[in-house]
This record gives sequence, C-alpha cells and structure tokens, in this order.
Amino acid sequence: MKMENIIEIKKVSYEYTEEERIFAAVKDINLNIERGSFTVILGHNGSGKSTLAKMLNGLKRPTFGDVIIDGINTKDEEKELEIKRKVGMVFQNPDNQLIASIVEEDVAFGPENLGLSPAEIRVRVDDALKSVGMYEFRKSTPHRLSGGQKQRIAIAGIIAMQPDCLVLDEPTAMLDPKGRAEIIDTLIKLNKEKNITVILITHYMEEAEKADRVVVMNDGEIIADGLPAEIFENVSLLKSVGLDVPQTTELLYALKQKGFRVKTNVISIKETAASIAAALGSEEK
Ligand code: ADP
Ligand code: MG
Repeated sequence: MKMENIIEIKKVSYEYTEEERIFAAVKDINLNIERGSFTVILGHNGSGKSTLAKMLNGLKRPTFGDVIIDGINTKDEEKELEIKRKVGMVFQNPDNQLIASIVEEDVAFGPENLGLSPAEIRVRVDDALKSVGMYEFRKSTPHRLSGGQKQRIAIAGIIAMQPDCLVLDEPTAMLDPKGRAEIIDTLIKLNKEKNITVILITHYMEEAEKADRVVVMNDGEIIADGLPAEIFENVSLLKSVGLDVPQTTELLYALKQKGFRVKTNVISIKETAASIAAALGSEEK
C-alpha cells in the first residue's frame, strides 16, 4: 500500500558544529508532505531551507528527530540508495549538475547508473526530455543552452530515474525571468501530468502562486503554512522575515490600508488589475 504522505518530518532539528560551537539551523520541525502535492518552501537566506532539503533524501541526517521517506527512516543506512531513488534533488547551479557534452548523454547518466537495459534507458531519456520540453535539443551541447534550458536538462536527468518526489533547492536563483518562468511551468506540468510530488525551495514569492501549499521558514523554524492566498495576505509577516513581497501585493495592501475593498490574495498583474477594477466598481468591457 502506498503511503498518503511521501515525506514525514518528525520533530527534526539539525545542528552544525564548528570549532566546538553548536548552531541549530533547523529547529524542531514537523511537516508532512502529501503524495502528489506541490509545496513551496519560502524563506530568506539562512533560514535553514538547504539544510532541510538535504535531509529529505538522506544527504544529511537529522541531529534529532526522524525523516521518513515513503515509510523508510533516513537513519536506515542500508536504505540509502532506495531513498535517493525516491527523492531526486535539483540544485541552484545547472552548470554543476551537467556532466556530459551531449544533452541526451547527460540525461542518460542516472538511468545508466541504475543498471537498466539500453532500450529502457532510451525510452526514459526521450520521455524525460519531452516532459521538460527539451527533446528537440537532445543532440545539443549543454554549455550552448540558456540557463533555463540547462536547468531543465538537469531536471530531465533526475526525472529519468523516475523518482516519486522532486526537491529543488532554489533552482531559479541563477536564471533570468524567462528561465525562471520555464522552470516553474515545467514543474507544474511534471506535478500535474506525471503526478510527481514537487517541493520547490525559493525566496521568490511569485513562484509560490500556483502551489498547493506554501510553507514559510525563518531562523530554522516554520512560521507559516497554508494555501498561497492565505500566506500572501500576510504581507507584514512576510516582510518581517525579509521576504521580498511582489509590488502587486504591496499595491493591493496599500489600497486596502486606505479603505479600498480590494482582494489582496492575488499576485499576477492580471488578477491584481481585476481586483482593483472590482473595488472601483468598474465593469470589464
Ligand atoms: P538557506 O538555504 O535558507 O539559506 P541554510 O540551510 O543554508 O539556509 O543555512 C541555515 C543556517 O545554517 C545559516 O545560518 C548558515 O550560516 C548555517 N550553516 C549552513 N551550513 C553550515 C555549515 N556547514 N556549518 C555551519 N553553519 C552552517
Ligand atoms: Mg539555501
């Protein structure tokens, strides 16, 4: 039977020890991730996001508490490979994640290490490239591609290993707005069409708009957890933890402070315009 929660984080803390000083980067966190969901973890630099991410596929083990992946405790060293197959990780810099000089060879790298047959590898590579919209670039050289394209190749390399869950640690941080949008669209597609559980770590609030759930971290703790609309409404909380609130959100918030009855739980320019238009009583033509 498949577990409802693909990931269970139970009273997890992580402490770094440096020159005999102990620093708690993650503090007594509880969090369950439902299979098939799209969760965004938001937080300012230093809030413990990367430390938490690395505990989700056993790259780090908790100092206290337990991380359970599809029923397996990451403390179980014998299950290390099984856990790494279930949870694939994508990092910030695509250049550090691409190895081969041809796109399709790069994507084949993971499946080859799983010891699959050449025919199976072929199918998986093509399928993975199609699912990130990069199939037509299969014979290209990665270093000639844009940042967004390179990052999509890195995602394809992970997808080709058919993980249940994808954890991405600030995958858009080095990309331009176009590249960022490509990645977000790709993740939404993978989540909807392949039912892959997605955990996207970011400090860009806009990227959380289409998520099922937003978890906000600050100073090693979870300080908010809810639907995007619920989280975005709390502008003062987000600002207090150093997150850049989109200008559209700030505008709606300022209008609300002035007594306009605008809907403040939206982010896109289009929805913001609709919210203001509705408050002004104007009709769409
Ligand atoms: P984020 O990804 O949200 O920026 P991190 O998990 O990287 O946060 O870091 C959380 C905190 O842990 C930071 O204060 C950081 O300085 C500290 N930290 C991270 N890695 C180490 C390390 N190897 N040794 C000591 N402290 C660390
Ligand atoms: Mg980080």
